[in-house]
Amino acid sequence: MEIKNNRLIGGSGDKVNPFVEAHAYDKKKVITPDAIIIHYTAGASGSATVNLFKSASATTSAHFVVSEDGSITQMVDLNRRAYHAGTSSYGGRSGYNSLSIGIEISNPGYLQKIDGQYYTWWEAKKEKKTPTPLSKVFTGKHRNAVTTMTYWYKYTDEQIAAVKALCKAICKAYNIIEILGHEEIAPGRKCDPGPAFPLDALRDEIFAQNSTVNINDLFQNAVSKSAASSLVVGKATVKLNFRQGPSSSAPLKSSPMAAGTYIYIIGQDDSKEWYNILHEITGWIDKEFIEQDNTDSEYDGELKTDNAMLYSDCKKSRRLVSDLKAGTKFNIIEQQENLFRIKAVVEGWACAKYITKEV
Ligand SMILES: [Zn+2]
Repeated sequence: MEIKNNRLIGGSGDKVNPFVEAHAYDKKKVITPDAIIIHYTAGASGSATVNLFKSASATTSAHFVVSEDGSITQMVDLNRRAYHAGTSSYGGRSGYNSLSIGIEISNPGYLQKIDGQYYTWWEAKKEKKTPTPLSKVFTGKHRNAVTTMTYWYKYTDEQIAAVKALCKAICKAYNIIEILGHEEIAPGRKCDPGPAFPLDALRDEIFAQNSTVNINDLFQNAVSKSAASSLVVGKATVKLNFRQGPSSSAPLKSSPMAAGTYIYIIGQDDSKEWYNILHEITGWIDKEFIEQDNTDSEYDGELKTDNAMLYSDCKKSRRLVSDLKAGTKFNIIEQQENLFRIKAVVEGWACAKYITKEV
């Protein structure tokens, strides 16, 4: 499948339905999307959602609806603002309807457990309830601590494959820098797509293909350097999330680090379950955010502002870290027009049980 003129075109074997125009979307404003937002519909079927979005009473919409069989229906041109995100913000940006392409996956959402059976939200309300087949029940904690539901309706393999293929086609046509769940841009208010959807794996697969960063190579120096100092070097034993705080619900600081990545351990939290770590990251940054300093032999400069973003390449196709702090020191590796490629040590948190001490 591919995107041409803001429309999805199916290739042979792709289940792409004819375009059906949604009723409610911004017909005046043209947008240049750089994000994809993943949703579930909380509905009973993809065709019901398509009918809902096209009905004259609709007030919401999304660019795509992905049905249970993996078939995809586009309902809004990709350069038009659909109404799927609502009040939303992430990484310093807000108003995701203007920034993003919305993908609604047909799925009932969270399930309620009553007397050992699991029910969709609408069945739970009925006098005579029909339970969800156990083969469709997914049990898992939500990434947002504020969301306490534990039971979710499974997505079909066809849906997961279709969403992945769709995201890849979108990323080829647009400069997409982030793929986020509705739950991440409106935590508390929203919990879709929920833990039954493999969002982290999707991001890993899609963005890993664009990544030009090999952090391990850069850390070889760091390890030998730390042998001469008192810093403790650790090594990630699995693919490890790098977080802003000592909690599995704390926002991610960057994309996960690969197994085998070296980090510095600088502290621990009270529970001793989390290490406060330093993680070396390279990426591209706008020159305007940095102050060069040639007086320090160790570093080439420091960041002037808190809002600088670090990108994976000089086309700024993927944001690596969105909350670099003013004062962060760095080395300049390369430069191009308005961008510097820098190597900076970023402070954050990672789960201690997945880190072995090396030095
Ligand atoms: Zn949603």
